[in-house]
Amino acid sequence: MTPLSGQHLAVLGAGRSGLGAARLARLLGAEVTVFDEGDADRLAAAMDRLATEGFAVVCGEAAKSLEVKPGDFDMAVISPGLDEHWPLPAKFVAAGTPLIGETELAFLHTDMPAVAITGTNGKTTCTEAIAAIFNGCGLRSVPCGNHGVSMSEVVASGERYDVLSLELSSFQLETIRSFRAPASVWLNFAPDHLDRYPDEAAYFEAKSRIFMNMTAEDVAIVRAGESVSSGRAIRRTFSAEPGVDADLRYENGAILRDGEVVGNTTALRLRGRHNMENVLAALLAGEVFGLKIPDMLAALVGFVPPAHRCELVRSLDDREYLNDSKATNLHALEACLLSQDRMIVLIAGGKDKELDYTPLRSSLAGRVRAMVFIGEIAGQLESTFGDLVPCQTAADMHDAVHRAREVSQAGDTILLSPGTSSFDMFSGYPARGQAFRDAVLSLN
Ligand code: ADP
Repeated sequence: MTPLSGQHLAVLGAGRSGLGAARLARLLGAEVTVFDEGDADRLAAAMDRLATEGFAVVCGEAAKSLEVKPGDFDMAVISPGLDEHWPLPAKFVAAGTPLIGETELAFLHTDMPAVAITGTNGKTTCTEAIAAIFNGCGLRSVPCGNHGVSMSEVVASGERYDVLSLELSSFQLETIRSFRAPASVWLNFAPDHLDRYPDEAAYFEAKSRIFMNMTAEDVAIVRAGESVSSGRAIRRTFSAEPGVDADLRYENGAILRDGEVVGNTTALRLRGRHNMENVLAALLAGEVFGLKIPDMLAALVGFVPPAHRCELVRSLDDREYLNDSKATNLHALEACLLSQDRMIVLIAGGKDKELDYTPLRSSLAGRVRAMVFIGEIAGQLESTFGDLVPCQTAADMHDAVHRAREVSQAGDTILLSPGTSSFDMFSGYPARGQAFRDAVLSLN
């Protein structure tokens, strides 16, 4: 007898999380149907994969016109890309079907501990760094959750890990109920996703759920100065900000605890203060599992952030071209700007996420020579910054790179750090970053 045998489960969303949830639910004995309201053409590849694995799939118009009656399903597992209030999940809720998140499903059916990581920016870099530390120090780990494979997929794979390095987005945290981790990281918080949440407070509230089930033995690892409550957990703080007090600090290449140097970062390939905060958080997470700072730093030598995060694409004519396409909000853009020591020609813009860009004005002086805008919010950005630096709008990425090169001077950095998402022009930040790379590599 398996835990879900005889049950009929609906999995809402046919993406990576949906696939993981479907696999896990089936392994646990359930009969599974996957639903997605998305366009059947766009979902073709995902549908094929699910169908090949033998799952019943309902998508497009058929999902839109679906009627759900009480008792049709024992449970619905919702993927993080969907909101409970959207029409499809709402039909299940209206029929009285219990709704749980994909992360919660995975958590309920595994005994593998996790370090959970959230924050507006740095989650993926920190998640990867934590997995690299554990693996380098002899504890088997895998980065998963919001990045890479879903937690359900990891659990369904049957592989055993000593610790999961689990990235959690606010969307995933919205639907946890009993999930808890022995160590949870809060990297930072800044306005984002205002196209999904009614206001900043709702986004904050969703993220802060990461701490809600922690016990007094668990450890909350929080950036110093963050106003979030970590409930009953033991609180450990970190900071790379000059003059800010914290349990673990970074200053000029050194890692400090109680004023004493406990390690240094000179051998690391991570750059910028923001990445040092990711390192500090990762070290504190490793300590929860008994690891020592020198061993952890040794495990991080050679570690580089994943692609599209302040990535050097090319040096040409004494100019550097940096791809920071993953900067999908203002806070990430600002972190990248502040971590550069050369003058910048900035390429920014994209989808309208209703973010306010005026706070960036104070970071431009002495740093940004000119700006080139792309996408839906180009006009808005021109009126926000036009009085401070020379601004222009480009027709596409190729045009943007050419314009940026033209206004740049020897010694400059030409930086793509859009400060918003890409869906007005691209399928996502990787396609946007690739378009930038292609344009840069075609320069002669
Ligand atoms: P996430 O998974 O939270 O989106 P990433 O590691 O993918 O985080 O990085 C996203 C963007 O944020 C990149 O532009 C990166 O340069 C920037 N970034 C990374 N770490 C931090 C940090 N600790 N604080 C601010 N910005 C960061």
